[in-house]
Amino acid sequence: MEPCIFCKIGAKEIPSHKVYEDNTVFAFLDIKPHTTGHTVVIPKKHGVRVFDFEDKYIGELFVSVRKVMEKLDGKLNPDGFNVGWNHNTAAGQVVPHLHIHIMPRYMNDGGGSMHSIIKNPGKMSVEDVAKLFK
Ligand code: AMP
Ligand code: ZN
Repeated sequence: MEPCIFCKIGAKEIPSHKVYEDNTVFAFLDIKPHTTGHTVVIPKKHGVRVFDFEDKYIGELFVSVRKVMEKLDGKLNPDGFNVGWNHNTAAGQVVPHLHIHIMPRYMNDGGGSMHSIIKNPGKMSVEDVAKLFK
């Protein structure tokens, strides 16, 4: 099997610019940043999707994401953040190891919001979708 590049970064077998590390996660600067301080947070354990991890692990990951945000806030003093991940190829995931993107945002930086990722509401009405959850 092809070795996982993010497992290798987490194990420090290949170099990266570390931002934060604890028992659960490793966070490093994205090599092709979309904003100043664009950081990638990975679980040290391998898994492709958020569904591949136990609840407890995801809880720890989320707490670590907040810690990374706090660190970035302290060093770069951004005006905001976009935080999220690309889940599966259809959503733009390229590296098959779960990773959370933290993008610091700055007033008038020219970027959009989550809503600018896609605008294709499809054929189902909101009411039809809601029926699936009744
Ligand atoms: P995604 O499209 O969500 O899979 O994003 C993968 C991200 O990982 C991209 O933003 C890449 O620029 C970043 N990336 C890939 N390889 C490296 C690396 N060796 N060091 C730092 N960032 C990387
Ligand atoms: Zn991996």
